Amino acid sequence: MNIGKEVLQLLKEEITEIEYNRYIKHLTYDTKKSNSSNAVFYAPNALVANWIKSKYSEKIAHLFDLKGETKVNVSISLKNQGDRRKTKKISEPKVLHSLLNPSHSFNNFMVGGSNQFAYAAVKSVSEKAGKLYNPLFIYGGVGLGKTHLMQAAGNVFQDQGKTVIYTTVEQFLNDFIRHVRNKTMDRFQEKYRKCDVLLIDDIQFLSNKEGIQEEFFHTFEALKGAGKQIILTADKHPKKIAGLEKRLQSRFEHGLVADIQPPELETKIAIIEKKCEINKVMLTKDIINYIATVIESNVREIEGILSKLHAYSQLMHIDIDLDFTKNVLKDQIKENKANLTLDIITEYVAKDLNIKPSEIKSKGRSRNLVYARRISIYLCRELTTNTMPQLAQYFGMKDHTAISHTLKKINSLMQNDEDFKVKIEELTNKITST
Ligand code: ADP
Ligand code: MG
Repeated sequence: MNIGKEVLQLLKEEITEIEYNRYIKHLTYDTKKSNSSNAVFYAPNALVANWIKSKYSEKIAHLFDLKGETKVNVSISLKNQGDRRKTKKISEPKVLHSLLNPSHSFNNFMVGGSNQFAYAAVKSVSEKAGKLYNPLFIYGGVGLGKTHLMQAAGNVFQDQGKTVIYTTVEQFLNDFIRHVRNKTMDRFQEKYRKCDVLLIDDIQFLSNKEGIQEEFFHTFEALKGAGKQIILTADKHPKKIAGLEKRLQSRFEHGLVADIQPPELETKIAIIEKKCEINKVMLTKDIINYIATVIESNVREIEGILSKLHAYSQLMHIDIDLDFTKNVLKDQIKENKANLTLDIITEYVAKDLNIKPSEIKSKGRSRNLVYARRISIYLCRELTTNTMPQLAQYFGMKDHTAISHTLKKINSLMQNDEDFKVKIEELTNKITST
């Protein structure tokens, strides 16, 4: 019995029989693709894969540990896609380190206002490796598609026969430590400097880790110097990553920095429709709209809900209707919006800009008051469920058109002024995390 099977047997003892039979039983372990740090399992469809990923992958990693095998990465891939890829390919794909998810393709990525800039940037880089923007730096909140886009480019490069390394900062660090320990740093350097394309995910984890920053810097310089494409992602703008060496920060900004914003309603709907199509789940329009309006932004959360809905309906043998959906989503619905009030946001902005909250709500027309008022209005609209007439009343403005005008103004400023945008993002993050 292979180690993967053994681990699943252990897992069987920890979960119910129904769970085992419905999900875990269908997993197969790929002994060829798995290696000392990665465990690769195949699931029969994406919903089962997602369900297992969210519910069991930590447990599975833990069980590997118990068996004396440390797997940094437990990947649950789709069986048919893996197979199709194999028959299509003549030579073995040259992906080192970690695996690219074949369903992370440009085709499966829904484009809307919130992500079109990042999409266009990655797409054009994928057509001209190393020649356009190098590095390409994508940043944005959790679950907004950064890894998906980066891997979509990786899949294109890989299909062109290029050697692609996809890795997270964490894996890069572990790999580095292992090679230092084994005194094989030359192999480490050769591996990372020989590839055609380097994709590094979650760069923010370089923060305050000086040794690895040093090594990373040299890898970066070597690749860039040789005209090899580098794509990086992070949860924030390079400027905002604390504890990052200045020289790295400036290198990261040197190519193109593209952000991904939370999807608007239409994009969310398109994403849900796409996921349903891929996973062969039938949902009516009203259910799709409901999910799109209830879930704020995180696409990964949306996927989790789809698999949850599907799994529940299978377990209970019932069809998915709106009431059922509402019931399943009950716990999931974020209370965030309800918790933030107009007063809290206004006070926050006032404090940040060193003025009084009452001044923001006054009719004062001085430059910095107008500035503060505009920012407050924008954030109140983004972070609460208040309507434009309600906001007009709160800020003592004539009517909703004045609010709408302000929102347009801020949106256009954000589009044209990178520093301003970063400022607004920072405020948003601070307010939502307090
Ligand atoms: P991040 O790396 O930004 O945290 P991911 O790239 O892992 O987010 O995306 C989370 C999930 O949401 C993935 O399964 C991805 O396929 C999906 N996703 C995100 N954005 C889109 C999109 N625009 N269209 C289709 N799927 C998306
Ligand atoms: Mg990611």
